[in-house]
Amino acid sequence: MGLQICPKCKEQSFTWFIGGKFPLPTWSCFDCDYEAKEVESDKQTCENCGDTAKIKLKDKEKEYSWCSNCNTVTE
Ligand SMILES: [Zn+2]
Ligand SMILES: [Zn+2]
Repeated sequence: MGLQICPKCKEQSFTWFIGGKFPLPTWSCFDCDYEAKEVESDKQTCENCGDTAKIKLKDKEKEYSWCSNCNTVTE
């Protein structure tokens, strides 16, 4: 799986891994060290690009939807 655009710094350095007790992927950016956990395993259809690539991410401050295809963030 290739690198995605980081929703925080917009660099193409965003990727995911599964580790620890948490069963869903954790996404992290190796450029700005931003980290967010995936909170739902179901992907939703993105209103912007129509791809089924929208997932829910949760970081320290907020929960939001993010499309890994077109990088649209929805609060
Ligand atoms: Zn970043
Ligand atoms: Zn999209």
